[in-house]
Amino acid sequence: MKAIAMKTARLFMHAALVAACTLTAGAQQGPAPLDTPATTDDTFLAEPVAGKKNLEPAIVRPAQEKAAAERLAARQQRYGSAPNIVLVLLDDVGWGDAGVYGGGLAVGAATPNMDRLAREGLQLMHAYSQPSCTPTRATIMTGQLPIRTGMLRPMLPGEGAGGRGVDPQATLAQKLKEAGYVTRAVGKWHLGEFKEAQPQNVGFDHYYGILTSSDDYTAWREPWRNPDLIQDQARKAWASQAEVMAIVEGSPGEEAQPVFPIDHDSIRRVDAQLTDHAVRFIEGTKGGKQPFFLYFATRGAHNDSYPHPDFVGTSLAKYLYEDVIVELDHRIGQLHAALERAGQLEHTLIFITSDNGPFAEAFPDTGFTPFRGAKGTCYEGGVRVPGIAYWQGTIKPGRVSAGLFDLTDLYATSLALAGAADRVPSDRFIDSIDQSSFLLADDGASRRRAVYYWAGNAFMGVRIAEFKFLVKDHVYQHDDTWPRMSPFQGTIQNSLYGGKLFNLLVDTKEEHAMLPLKQPHAPVLKEAADTHLATFKAYAPPVPVQ
Ligand code: CA
Repeated sequence: MKAIAMKTARLFMHAALVAACTLTAGAQQGPAPLDTPATTDDTFLAEPVAGKKNLEPAIVRPAQEKAAAERLAARQQRYGSAPNIVLVLLDDVGWGDAGVYGGGLAVGAATPNMDRLAREGLQLMHAYSQPSCTPTRATIMTGQLPIRTGMLRPMLPGEGAGGRGVDPQATLAQKLKEAGYVTRAVGKWHLGEFKEAQPQNVGFDHYYGILTSSDDYTAWREPWRNPDLIQDQARKAWASQAEVMAIVEGSPGEEAQPVFPIDHDSIRRVDAQLTDHAVRFIEGTKGGKQPFFLYFATRGAHNDSYPHPDFVGTSLAKYLYEDVIVELDHRIGQLHAALERAGQLEHTLIFITSDNGPFAEAFPDTGFTPFRGAKGTCYEGGVRVPGIAYWQGTIKPGRVSAGLFDLTDLYATSLALAGAADRVPSDRFIDSIDQSSFLLADDGASRRRAVYYWAGNAFMGVRIAEFKFLVKDHVYQHDDTWPRMSPFQGTIQNSLYGGKLFNLLVDTKEEHAMLPLKQPHAPVLKEAADTHLATFKAYAPPVPVQ
């Protein structure tokens, strides 16, 4: 009976796949009109293949992989080296903030630079981060989910002063350096403040940035938070003995040293400082033959929002967060212009994303997501992030894709573009999938079949195609008082009835769980979850899976 039901479901899905392919055939000529259907490719019934036993299985797509390899080889011949990679990592920016994602002026801030790069490149509609800063940043640097590295939640002030960091021999920066890249980190790190964990000691040739979350530096100084520490001179003097925060700078082997003290005023200039530094670096590459990896992680738009004085009141909303979005969009434009001046634009993949969803339900002055939940949760609002891949002359303009992309994929994808796919570690499980053919082939589709949801060491669920299966739930309460309870302060509990199944294309707010209706899809998702969890038996994580 079950077999018949599954067969019926498969036949139905096959019919849906044929229909979807028919609908999108012939699309994608030049910049996309706004009503161009997204590239669709049904991965529900796909059977991914593990290239090696320590790799996340990936869907094999011979035609697009051949097309991408030929394109990469042609440009390698033309330019004589592997491409530059510029990764722009925004902080707490919402999936929907940019105009091209339905935000822009609709939510208070125009984003012409991000919109342009998206429309002249590939816009990912289903890209995923982890629920918070440190875990996502660790996945990008390691190609591994946080449960495999122990980087499970944001490091708090002082916590990053010792203990665990990423494996310095296995970071994306280290692997690219070994492949001949100049590696540069500019901006927020949040993967450990101690010397051995600092970027310049885990694979970057140079670091200029802030080692932890910017609000750690200034939040306590806000008079509305701590009036006693600001208005009482004796207490103010006592509190001011605390560590002075700063932009720090360092080269390999060194402890990064303060170069730009951050106080309640100068914090407004941090993103300008970071951009100036990155622009000078890019300009210095003009005429150079060595490819570079620039990891550019902004201070904004993490709360609290401190727009540069030149940007105060420049957003439609004339409000702090939106002013910061206008500024960050401008900073991205500055990086793009610097690449153009340096003659590097056709030689560089620019990838723009955010490290997690916004604090959308905590306070109005945060990013915008149309999805349920916020930063800290595995609801889509917490982990669905913008993803823009732009590469002039190489990525076809006007592409929009519904394919799954996990930010862990940046690891294997970058190494593949660098011609260094063989440098992906073989001594640990790697969750990253090489998505270079997805990005480069004109009609490229995602090679990722499943996205896994984790909150700390709790396995929360899995997504395949449009279906999301949650075995655990975040439980937190919101009311209309403020400050509201952060999702981080909620609890995680097992879902009733063994799990919740959502169709994310129909039920975008994850409000109508279907599992009690015994959907035919459920066994497929459960099997994917079981297969994923089995990897932790073969490769034991540093902390037990909950
Ligand atoms: Ca963040």
